Amino acid sequence: MKYLFLLISLACASKTVAQEKQQYVLMISFDGFRHDYVEMYPTPNFDTFIKNGAAAESLIPSFPSKTFPNHYTLVTGLYPANHGLVDNSFYDRGRDVVYSMRMKELVTDDYFYGGIPLWQHAQNNGLKTASYFWVGSEAPVGGNFPSYYYNYNGSISNEMRIEQVRKWLELPEEERPRFISLYFSLVDSEGHRYGPVSPQTGEAVKEADRLLGLIRKELSQIDLPVNILITSDHGMVSVKDEKDSFIQLEDYFDAENHVFRMVNNNTHAHLYFKDKSKIDSVFNKLRDISKDFKVYKKGETPDHWHYNSPNDRIGDLLISAEPGTVLSTRMWEKGDSPNFGVHGYDPSFKTLHGIFYANGPAIKKGETVPSFENIHVYPLVCLLLGIPVPENIDGKQEVLETIIKNK
Ligand SMILES: [Zn+2]
Repeated sequence: MKYLFLLISLACASKTVAQEKQQYVLMISFDGFRHDYVEMYPTPNFDTFIKNGAAAESLIPSFPSKTFPNHYTLVTGLYPANHGLVDNSFYDRGRDVVYSMRMKELVTDDYFYGGIPLWQHAQNNGLKTASYFWVGSEAPVGGNFPSYYYNYNGSISNEMRIEQVRKWLELPEEERPRFISLYFSLVDSEGHRYGPVSPQTGEAVKEADRLLGLIRKELSQIDLPVNILITSDHGMVSVKDEKDSFIQLEDYFDAENHVFRMVNNNTHAHLYFKDKSKIDSVFNKLRDISKDFKVYKKGETPDHWHYNSPNDRIGDLLISAEPGTVLSTRMWEKGDSPNFGVHGYDPSFKTLHGIFYANGPAIKKGETVPSFENIHVYPLVCLLLGIPVPENIDGKQEVLETIIKNK
């Protein structure tokens, strides 16, 4: 049946470069790289990469525009509510535990991860894969780890990561990974600390550009058809470091409100109720007294968030701050910069958009595509690798197949 379908599709469509010759995919994430950084800061290597490849106006993160749910969306093609990693931090009722990206024993537990990550899908189709860090790669989701992977260690130098990618591609063909993921945190770190518009973030973008140059140089020494996809998980919103930017949540919750458990992700907070009969009264109170944030009942969040699934890890109530403000449970203290950077808000705000640039032998040159949601990257990787696009994902292959070069 599979072969019949393949024959029919080959007969109907003109052949793409990817169908003709085995391609490799290196998917890179520069965490927190905002869509307009390449215009704001000097990026000669990005500019050349984009000019000779394909670029989206921006990459729209899924809600919440946080690091963990979005990296995992990129490799599952599913919205966070559907892949289960619904936030950087959330409460899991089944395990009675708060998932946190800082807790190794939870991060490495496949219980928390749904969907089939790209590396697992590729391996199910007989390919080898490798990951130099990516959310989900440290847990045997769907039965296996990537063929080659490392547990996250932020102190491993970026150069060392790049060198390992080259080494993987130099392996004998039967051991060589066809899909590799590679992660860099530097731009996000400076963006958080000093804000997106700052000399420090500019320096980090410049360093990211240098790393891209290094990657291109290393790969130019290897005679393989490697397609590079450059992504980021979200952009960054500038927040003034002053008292008014902080919404003190204690001001809204008195003693009676220990009827819920709160998990605060700063841009939004989940409230989980044991006694569901208390939800309405807390909702009404919060809605009536606060001008500083919006409050939603589970299942009633904006449609474009795709967050109205019955998934139990989403709070019964969700408090959502406006961009430029932060939900806080601590007293405000002046930091070391007039502004800092935050993400996690409604992804329709363009400053939260990330990047998607592609370049390689199977990618058209000079192609631009409008902003698109990050669920659609997964099918593109499948097409480039020549493996089936699963039907049960949120991403659609129509969105990006136009950037693949025809023979
Ligand atoms: Zn991030």
